[in-house]
Amino acid sequence: VSVAAALHGVAGRAARLLGALRDLAAPPSCPGCGGPAGAAGQELCAACGRDLAEPAHGICPGCGVAATADASTFCPACRGGCARDAVACGVAYSGVARDLVHRFKYCADLAAGRVLAQRLARRLPEALPCGADLLVPVPLHRRRLRERGFNQAAVIARAVSRATGIPCAVDALRRTASTPPLADLPPEERARAVRGAFAVRRAGAVAGRRVVVVDDVLTTGATAEACCRALKDAGAAWTGVAAAARVILPLRR
Ligand SMILES: [Zn+2]
Ligand SMILES: [Zn+2]
Repeated sequence: VSVAAALHGVAGRAARLLGALRDLAAPPSCPGCGGPAGAAGQELCAACGRDLAEPAHGICPGCGVAATADASTFCPACRGGCARDAVACGVAYSGVARDLVHRFKYCADLAAGRVLAQRLARRLPEALPCGADLLVPVPLHRRRLRERGFNQAAVIARAVSRATGIPCAVDALRRTASTPPLADLPPEERARAVRGAFAVRRAGAVAGRRVVVVDDVLTTGATAEACCRALKDAGAAWTGVAAAARVILPLRR
């Protein structure tokens, strides 16, 4: 670890601690826009609450392409050959949802993360009607975890676990390789970039079980798919993907 990286990590943690203290002192604010919070029990203000939309129907749950007959139908490219059996998403990744993800992930705004987790938890019974035995967050590479100080997928998975009663195994998966930021790659190269990048720590923890991989944002689904593949290889009976926000991709012709 370089001295610069270590100092960066310390500075990041100090900034987050200051942020948390400031939040304690300030009146409650909307995690979406920073304005006054909503009515009691609702952290988002009314305008942000209206802006947060469920992913529209007609989106392939596998890759997010807007092309299918209904929300539960995989597109032809995703049908067959994919390890995930179902996909659940809290909200569409746009507007306030995008702001919430950024505040949560890059500013450690836990109130924003809480709103995202709540939306996802609310969608699970309908999106995964047969239920699940275990929630497993997409793991961060050690280096990324040191820089950020927390794994955003693990925070969401724990919150969804508390809301739904489905147990959460934060360390069930590990990253065996550091992968380039997928946002920098074209969609068709992402699957190859993350293939084999995940492994199950103890096959006994997932064998024969219905396991849901949890992440913050689902784009092409390449990362979640690689996790589901590792879980199936370790004997998982069924795998689902639960993402707080879903990017809707334009239909490619
Ligand atoms: Zn707001
Ligand atoms: Zn698809």
